Amino acid sequence: MVKMKLRNRLHKVDNIAGATVTFQDAKAATVLTATSDAHGVASLNLKPLANGAYTCEIEAPNVSADEVGPALATTAPVPDRIYRPVTLIVKIAGGIINSAVPADPLTATVAVSASLVNVDIQPVWMKSAQSSGRGKPVSMIIVHHTACDLGPAVSTFLSEKGPHYMIDTDGQIVKWVPDARAAWHAGVARWDGHADVNERSVGIEIVNKTGPYPEAQYTALLGLLDRITTAFSGIDEWNIIGHSDVGTNSDGKLGRKSGDPGAQFEWSRLEAKRLGLLESDGPPDINIYAGFFNIVASGSLHVGDNDSRHHFGGANHKDIAGHPVRELQEDLVAIGYSGRISGRRFRGENAGCGDGVPRTFLCRRTRTKSSRRAGGFSNGGDDQECGGPGAGLGRSALVGCGAGALARVVLLLLSPQPGCPVKPSLA
Ligand SMILES: [Zn+2]
Repeated sequence: MVKMKLRNRLHKVDNIAGATVTFQDAKAATVLTATSDAHGVASLNLKPLANGAYTCEIEAPNVSADEVGPALATTAPVPDRIYRPVTLIVKIAGGIINSAVPADPLTATVAVSASLVNVDIQPVWMKSAQSSGRGKPVSMIIVHHTACDLGPAVSTFLSEKGPHYMIDTDGQIVKWVPDARAAWHAGVARWDGHADVNERSVGIEIVNKTGPYPEAQYTALLGLLDRITTAFSGIDEWNIIGHSDVGTNSDGKLGRKSGDPGAQFEWSRLEAKRLGLLESDGPPDINIYAGFFNIVASGSLHVGDNDSRHHFGGANHKDIAGHPVRELQEDLVAIGYSGRISGRRFRGENAGCGDGVPRTFLCRRTRTKSSRRAGGFSNGGDDQECGGPGAGLGRSALVGCGAGALARVVLLLLSPQPGCPVKPSLA
């Protein structure tokens, strides 16, 4: 007898019991069937089979060949696991398996020895231990990185809190929590004035400990974002954001999740698909933030600046008009960031320890409620292109501005202070 052991590819202690294993010959005639036992083992008597090639279909009790997204795992009762169906191309000689290769290498990993064939099958659904009712419509998507390898991430998501989706390094997506339920992926967080970010958001964890994100992860993420935003029409582009954008301490200060998903994550790919904030263009507007960077190209706004006296970057600039710090604070809050508008300093508000928000954006969103600065963000051409109020965007309008300089302003303001520890952590 040849034993075929079926396991969860991402969590190998999961034996897949009750799976059907079906061998077919070259004429598509079924020549052998078996079912895996409680240990995930299917016992196969291959002796009667003629030497040659066969196809072997493996179906776990719950399978899905569809793309992973909101439609998955919505039928009650939701099982603990759902796997990919697997087709193996098997060569048999003398009653043993000489080789077994998955027709789709993304569905399974196979190891063949004389009497044992290990088939580790890709899961698409692994039920997280924790989720709760939402009570709020889905209006945000939060992008995370795991800050650890796959193994610890899977263990954490299984035993504690899990995101709604996880994207592995090979681009494969696993779902953990139904979209209709809330997950605790964002922890204490605040966005756009809402402190109940978990109830309002779908969380996506990208397996990334450090370094660049593989192309396969971007491809998977863009597809997943497209499916989620199709399923939930209430998710605006500016509400697809990073954990670093929303994670706060209990006092509402940003910075608890600095570096999540981190500086290596390329938001421009999402923006290009309008699945994140839009790209902006054009030169910086001299009228915003008192045209600070037009005047002090290498300057910096920092704690201790006395903006009431127009003292920036260690020099007095009497020609600066307006109130740059207040304007910047107002815009950060208007975009959605947590923070107070004091007009005075950033210390203790948006730029405390760990406030390194590497992904920063500032243009693209402004208020229809107020136009407090003449000649501010407003840019009619971009309004039209990006879908301004006339396009039914509701309370906010998208506008264009010089992303480079403005993003730099925010980056400076939100950069960690020297000596502040930055502790990456899971989820
Ligand atoms: Zn996170």
